[in-house]
Amino acid sequence: MSPPNPFPDSGLAQGPAKAFRFCPRCGVAEPRIERGGRVLRCEHCGFLFFFNSATAAGAFVFHQGQLILCIRAKDPGQGMWDLPGGFIEFGETVEDGLRREIQEELNIATSDYRYLMSAPNDYFYAGVPYKTTDLFYICRAAHVHGLKAADDVADYCLIAPADLDPGRLAFASARAAAAALQDWLRHHAP
Ligand SMILES: [Zn+2]
Repeated sequence: MSPPNPFPDSGLAQGPAKAFRFCPRCGVAEPRIERGGRVLRCEHCGFLFFFNSATAAGAFVFHQGQLILCIRAKDPGQGMWDLPGGFIEFGETVEDGLRREIQEELNIATSDYRYLMSAPNDYFYAGVPYKTTDLFYICRAAHVHGLKAADDVADYCLIAPADLDPGRLAFASARAAAAALQDWLRHHAP
């Protein structure tokens, strides 16, 4: 079964350059977009801008053998499963960014981060098709006192890892990571 597509008709493949209709420096209309949407080059003033992939991260958080998943509050993918996580801010390590996001979204502290895999992703938000590089980690919550959904998370659930159905995850990158996690779990205890 192919997973649901939460982003119909959003033009994601074109990338964020599609949102730039004018040169940000001189204001001339329709600046030249090169290299498959990665470079804006204004032929009027010479302004050059590179659209780089944004770093984002998600975590498989384990607590006493169970996985803590989020239910998305907003589109893209409203109502679907998601991993806690988000965009990494300037100057942050990926692990620090993940710790911050998980604290914000679920109000729990996490530790014992272990890198799992990465995958490219498209993230359509407020009319802009962002390109991201998603990094996935496995980590641990020592306790879940105070666990509550906040920020862009409507609710959470605790499931057995065997019940992790990749098709219920909102993003293609997280679905690939779920498959990698299941492979990892065959060889390791969480
Ligand atoms: Zn210009």
